[in-house]
Amino acid sequence: MKAGDVLHYYQYGTQTTNQAGHLSIGGVDTLELAHEYGTPLVVYDVALIKQRIAEFKQVFEAAGVAYKVTYASKAFTAIAMYQLLAEQGVGCDVVSGGEIYTAQQAGFPLATASFHGNNKSAAELEYAVTAGVGTIVLDNFHEIDLLNDILTTQDKTIDVLLRISPGISAHTHEYIMTGQEDSKFGFDLKSGQATTAFEKVQALPRLNLRGVHCHIGSQIFETKGFEMAAEAMIALLAQWQQQGFTAQVLNLGGGFGVRYTAEDQPLAPQDYVRDIVKIVKNQAAAAQLPLPEIWIEPGRSMVAEAGTSLYTIGSRKDLPGIRHYLAVDGGMGDNIRPALYEAKYTAVLANAPEAEPVETVSIAGKYCESGDMLVWDLPLPQSKPGDVLAMFVTGAYGYSMASNYNRNPRPAVVFVENGQARLVIKRETYADMAHLDVNESPSHL
Ligand SMILES: *Cc1c(COP(=O)(O)O)cnc(C)c1O
Repeated sequence: MKAGDVLHYYQYGTQTTNQAGHLSIGGVDTLELAHEYGTPLVVYDVALIKQRIAEFKQVFEAAGVAYKVTYASKAFTAIAMYQLLAEQGVGCDVVSGGEIYTAQQAGFPLATASFHGNNKSAAELEYAVTAGVGTIVLDNFHEIDLLNDILTTQDKTIDVLLRISPGISAHTHEYIMTGQEDSKFGFDLKSGQATTAFEKVQALPRLNLRGVHCHIGSQIFETKGFEMAAEAMIALLAQWQQQGFTAQVLNLGGGFGVRYTAEDQPLAPQDYVRDIVKIVKNQAAAAQLPLPEIWIEPGRSMVAEAGTSLYTIGSRKDLPGIRHYLAVDGGMGDNIRPALYEAKYTAVLANAPEAEPVETVSIAGKYCESGDMLVWDLPLPQSKPGDVLAMFVTGAYGYSMASNYNRNPRPAVVFVENGQARLVIKRETYADMAHLDVNESPSHL
């Protein structure tokens, strides 16, 4: 039995209750973190990120198949994150010039990066080629032309994959579903676009086609969707084999689910990979294709559970018989997922994570939107203003989607490991937020 079944919280990674009775992560007391760095604060358990990486790799290694794990940067990135990935021997997906720039600043080996996106600009593609990004995942016909022009000008070649939209809808929330037919991403399979793109790329010698990519969705709890996607991809590759092309890479994307609350029952990371390897092996053999390298692109599953957000509790509003609102010093500006996707979270008081709940409260943010809520109906012990609330599993698509709405600064981010904390993103200042504003002090004032 997992410790969280008897405690009042589920212990992810190195989370534990320390001798002072406080929530500790990576051997560091979260109250000390809140005191030292302020709140809102996002705390990453580095050991848990490393563990996830090892779990993904270990299955491929044990199966003895060629593979590549590329972390989907969009889930959370920073210079320190790219450095951690590089140190752990993981590639990355980038989806913008800004992500390429950050990776470059980090000294990340861009040859192991894949560039995704449904509307990469000419400038971004040019930047990617110049910076040495290893693989471009082609998404549309316009991009094929843009890339070929850039390569011609620079007299270069580059590895490409074709992103295929396989018409599979993974069982997940519709806003975060990207593999179904009616999608803005990739070349459609059923209408024949995929093969048209294949023929077009094959005719362009500067584009070194290595295989195909698909990404069927996010927060997926079963392997059926991957099985269907792999089947569709292998069938397509078998067809292209008839036209003299042998794929070296089959990239099945990311989307592995995580446990936000007890309602979520994801598979273990190893179980997703084990199934994917088995499925691809069987289907490639059945189609008489040489086994391609299997690439996966976990984003959420690599970092979500490793992240915990610390907030300071402020005001409360009691509506007898209706609801108790407890407001914190963050909200939709640092985590828009509850407002955007109705995402669910749990939280505890950092000073008493194991105390018996005595009331049900709803955690409100401080932003000027009624929808700015972080958690609905959370059982919590008695709290007072100034207490620190620790909200779990905020490591993916939280900070990376953060905004300056209401001109609130974005939070600071720390990495904790082995009893040490390290600031990896500074808290934004008021001046940071105003520094792009043009202040010309017009003469009529
Ligand atoms: C977002 C995305 C991923 C990662 O998805 P997760 O659900 O975070 O694992 C992987 N590949 C592509 C192409 C994506 O767009």
